[in-house]
Amino acid sequence: MTDLINYVCAACGKKRTLPANEPTPECCRETMNLEPLPVCETAPSAEHSRLDDDSSPCDDGSAG
Ligand SMILES: [Zn+2]
Repeated sequence: MTDLINYVCAACGKKRTLPANEPTPECCRETMNLEPLPVCETAPSAEHSRLDDDSSPCDDGSAG
C-alpha cells in the first residue's frame, strides 16, 4: 500500500500527485513543495467548537 503525496510548484502553481516512495518532483527548475493538507475542508464538529485557540489550522498566516 502506497501513500500518495500532493506536491505544488511555488513558481507556477502546478500540482502533481506522486507515491510517497517517489523522490520529490521538480518544476520550474525548483523542487516542488508539499501541498498543505486540506484540513479546513473537514466539517466542523460540535465536539471541536473551541474557538479559543489562536493558532487555528485554518489560519493561512498570510493575513495582515
Ligand atoms: Zn512550475
